[in-house]
Amino acid sequence: MVIVADKPDARGRTVREEDLQAAVRAVEKSTVVCLSSHVNPDGDALGSLLGLTLALSAQGKAVYAALPRPEQFPPQYHFLPGREMLRDPEEIPEGADLFIALDCSNAERLEGLRPKAEGARFLVNVDHHEDNNLFGHLDLVDPGASSTSELVYRLLRAGGWESTPEVATCLYTGLVTDTGRFQHRNTSPEALAVASELAAAGADLALISREVYESQSLSYTRLVGRALERAEVLEDLGLVFSYITQRDLRETGASLQETEDLIDHLRTVRGTRVAAILKELEDGKVRVSLRSRDGAEVGPVARALGGGGHANAAGYTSDLDIEGSLARLLEVLRRGRHG
Ligand code: AMP
Ligand code: MN
Ligand code: MN
Repeated sequence: MVIVADKPDARGRTVREEDLQAAVRAVEKSTVVCLSSHVNPDGDALGSLLGLTLALSAQGKAVYAALPRPEQFPPQYHFLPGREMLRDPEEIPEGADLFIALDCSNAERLEGLRPKAEGARFLVNVDHHEDNNLFGHLDLVDPGASSTSELVYRLLRAGGWESTPEVATCLYTGLVTDTGRFQHRNTSPEALAVASELAAAGADLALISREVYESQSLSYTRLVGRALERAEVLEDLGLVFSYITQRDLRETGASLQETEDLIDHLRTVRGTRVAAILKELEDGKVRVSLRSRDGAEVGPVARALGGGGHANAAGYTSDLDIEGSLARLLEVLRRGRHG
């Protein structure tokens, strides 16, 4: 696929024990800890945020945790413990001693909370994106980690902080969703070992699978039907794509927040290596989700179009309409194929 001149990033990094210890010390000497994760939060953004919120509260810290846009909390994650501890972003103090950003490849992913993160006296960046631009004073960034939730678990272990069943449920949710139920290439022996430890710590595996994967609303089920019916394959690119519009959302009654796994329904088509789903937003812009397999990489494609992500799971927002966004995407994919 496309090769783009990248800015310095986290490729090849791992998290050293001394970095984990530095983060532990930073937490221990702070009374107030602020936490946040990325806009359009997924299971890992929420699981790592809530798991760390619960664990640090149990350590007696005053934890101020918020999503940059609280209204984006997806319904399938309402069961997560600790949700009631989330505050409005306005309540996050300025100039805090410590701010921890979770699952964000860069500070822009924090949107409105970015100034508070950057204004904190110490900023810790915990993430697993290979395009992470190392924006923290301390970067716990490991592109080899399955999920940010896995890294949070390593941090808890380093601090000797307890993983209660509630913490374990949050972190396991991050692991299971970011690995596509332990199917994607990021399902490493370490990820499975952490999953096992979280199960032993009391993560409610039955609740997680029921709530995340078997509680789909009828409206969303119908929306999936529309998207699948429209799916098309471009054989020369090994691409399968589809789209949903604001009108589809209105007519089915589904919400955009419910659509995180829509791409997973598409990406299984035989003979394809790249899947794309285009989602029309309220303001007419289009959010594009990309997935790839069998050696194809979509991270560089998303970066070329102003977004980012992992080699096999990436995304961006396009200012064009659906038709225009699709045309632009095909252009970039074709350019990549021909060098
Ligand atoms: P999604 O398709 O929204 O599930 O996103 C897939 C991956 O791409 C996730 O790891 C996201 O964090 C990343 N991603 C999506 N949109 C953007 C963006 N605008 N900028 C940077 N990374 C993104
Ligand atoms: Mn994420
Ligand atoms: Mn993640």
